Amino acid sequence: MKKKLHFNSNTIHGGQEPDKAYGAVMPPIYQTSTYAQTTPGGHQGFEYSRTHNPTRQALEKSLASIEAGKFGFAFGSGLAAMDAVLKLLKPGDEIISTDDLYGGSYRLFTKIFEDFGLKFHFVGMDNSQKIEKFINSKTKLLWVETPTNPMMNIIDIKSITTLAKTHGIMVAVDNTFASPYLQQPLTLGADIVMHSATKYLAGHSDVVLGSLVVKDEELAERIGFIQNASGAICGPMDSFLTLRGIKTLHVRMQRHCENAAAIAHFLKKHSKIEKVYWPGFEEHPNHGVAKAQMNDYGGMLSFVTRGGDYNAAVKIIESLKLFTLAESLGGVESLAGHPASMTHASIPKELREKSGVVDSLIRLSVGIEDVRDLIEDLKQAIG
Ligand SMILES: *Cc1c(COP(=O)(O)O)cnc(C)c1O
Repeated sequence: MKKKLHFNSNTIHGGQEPDKAYGAVMPPIYQTSTYAQTTPGGHQGFEYSRTHNPTRQALEKSLASIEAGKFGFAFGSGLAAMDAVLKLLKPGDEIISTDDLYGGSYRLFTKIFEDFGLKFHFVGMDNSQKIEKFINSKTKLLWVETPTNPMMNIIDIKSITTLAKTHGIMVAVDNTFASPYLQQPLTLGADIVMHSATKYLAGHSDVVLGSLVVKDEELAERIGFIQNASGAICGPMDSFLTLRGIKTLHVRMQRHCENAAAIAHFLKKHSKIEKVYWPGFEEHPNHGVAKAQMNDYGGMLSFVTRGGDYNAAVKIIESLKLFTLAESLGGVESLAGHPASMTHASIPKELREKSGVVDSLIRLSVGIEDVRDLIEDLKQAIG
């Protein structure tokens, strides 16, 4: 077996072997719910597809490999993966998370799991002291998302896992925005890394899927139990598509980062733009952490126009021709979004604005098209 490959080889080969039946290089889409047994209990490791499926298993091995973990789990969506993490907890347990969180995660926490007795605290996680104030004997989980969406704040994963270890608290990192090409939270001390693989991992806007990766065997057993017992798994076709996407993750990410950097600099110089949120700028408040923690600055950025309001933002977004107005991110095609009315509409306005998600904010998921065409499009739309 191949040992210790670099990341850019692991995306293609990590955890993968030709299929045992006919040597197929890509794992077949095992579109089956069950598996023939020779005698009761006599099977080849597969009994029922909620529990195991060879296509999903190939993806799970790939996920574990690219996140430098040991055990991967694939779910029907990113939120289904998060749901499984929260089911590790019990009523009365407390969770601390960032105040600049993906809207769907905030909704899952506050509208579903609060009713089951979990208590959530939302704080700026850029500083350990702020987090420490909320830690008590009931604190069981720190939920980190970095870069944050859509303000592009960077949280220092290492300093959080160091703090958590002194208190015996588990740390989970939503690595959706960065992808393992930019950072591998498990190597920075996190216990669980979560993905909406819908975004960069699958990368082609053609599948909704989520994942968890861990290193610890006991934790893996508990998550595997929940995955099977709650059953929020993904199907073989979606597993196949995600696995195919991962094989080009590194080349896509390289171009996403290059294009986003060029656009960030273009917008910064534009007379009608007030502010650009992109961690690659030296004046970005967390630039130092980003530089140390990430291999590059990613494909996401946000900006506000000078003196702009809701209408100004909507006018720009509607004038874009190559950027598609849509939710989601991380696909090969460039997307533009209006967080206040789209991804973050489920967060109350005051809370939203406190973290910077004002009505004039526009978020870009920069794709891998020719960047000259993207800049041309922004130029004509901003006017
Ligand atoms: C999209 C997204 C999710 C939710 O994932 P789904 O696959 O849509 O369920 C969670 N976190 C972040 C940062 C996301 O962008």
